[in-house]
Amino acid sequence: MKEENLAGNSKSAIDFLGNKLDFDCMGCAISRGNIAIPGGIIYEGNCAMLGADPEIPIPGFLIVNVKRHVNSISELSKEERHEVIDVIAIAEKALKELNITKEVTIVQEERSKHLHVWIFPNYDWMTEKFGKGIKYLRDISEYAQQNATEDTIKETLSVIEKIRDYFSNIGDLK
Ligand SMILES: [Zn+2]
Repeated sequence: MKEENLAGNSKSAIDFLGNKLDFDCMGCAISRGNIAIPGGIIYEGNCAMLGADPEIPIPGFLIVNVKRHVNSISELSKEERHEVIDVIAIAEKALKELNITKEVTIVQEERSKHLHVWIFPNYDWMTEKFGKGIKYLRDISEYAQQNATEDTIKETLSVIEKIRDYFSNIGDLK
């Protein structure tokens, strides 16, 4: 995977269904509905959206995308901060209560020009194959991308549906 793709700074990407996505800024294109991501948007609030990572087919690998084009948590308004953390919290609850994963890693990199937060699930195969910890996330992502089977993709899409149901049952996140 290209370095700028990892940071979300490239101008195009191939999603895990094989579709090419073109954009100036992926975060803005998702916010405006200019590109469709695999499985669709899971949750959309006033300030933030939740979807699956478009490029990496790992069931429960989720991205919180802030709608506004900013690149730092320090630039968020109070409303945005509240919504972002609420979405992260509910997504984590969903992943755990639906028995998708017992543990997640949260990542936000300011080198990405558009603020997004990774919610990365841990699976036993990751620990067995690579080890545990933030330094393995890139290797795990590349491995998942290169070794995706039809079943993994089906499972990833099915988890997206389950999390969407979870969010719709929660209502307005309160
Ligand atoms: Zn943007």
